Amino acid sequence: MADYEINITKSWRKSLSMRFDSKWVLQVKAPKLLLRTQIDAFIKKNTPWIEKEYAKISQRNIDKQWYLFGKVQRGLLWELCQDKLLKFYKAQAKKYLIPRCNELAEKYWFTHKWIRITSASTRWGSCSSKKTLNFSYRLIMAPKEAIDYVIIHELCHLRQMNHGAKFWKEVSDIMPEYKEHENHLKSDGWKYRV
Ligand SMILES: [Zn+2]
Repeated sequence: MADYEINITKSWRKSLSMRFDSKWVLQVKAPKLLLRTQIDAFIKKNTPWIEKEYAKISQRNIDKQWYLFGKVQRGLLWELCQDKLLKFYKAQAKKYLIPRCNELAEKYWFTHKWIRITSASTRWGSCSSKKTLNFSYRLIMAPKEAIDYVIIHELCHLRQMNHGAKFWKEVSDIMPEYKEHENHLKSDGWKYRV
């Protein structure tokens, strides 16, 4: 059974009706004098229809889901326009990625000059020869372990500016299970976009 909310409104009407509103709440309209048990029986009788409708709207809105730290966020989405969502992500990215990168750099003895949050859409992060680290704000939508992987990946480029064996050794010394997170970003990364 899906976990939708039900809201019952009574008025001087003759019959029962129901529909899902734009916030995925099942709005039930009932005649004023109808008993709660009768309303419940009506809802119960129509459960197959409700479940089908609910499945339909969730399917329709699947591409409107938004992510934060790898978890799907729904409810608020209806109030968030794309522009606001973008601003929200960029602010979250600054708030989370910069301190986290500094923390990991300190922990594993890396020296970087500057961290920038970019709008890059094709890469999660990059590292320049001037020791500047760049991270896409989109990274904030990914699970925290995947974020750590990207940060560690870029930090290791401070020591190895290539993807050679030495580089991967550095990465796996710090994060032995890095492959799992790399694969996650490859398979699910498409979801983490506005
Ligand atoms: Zn790399």
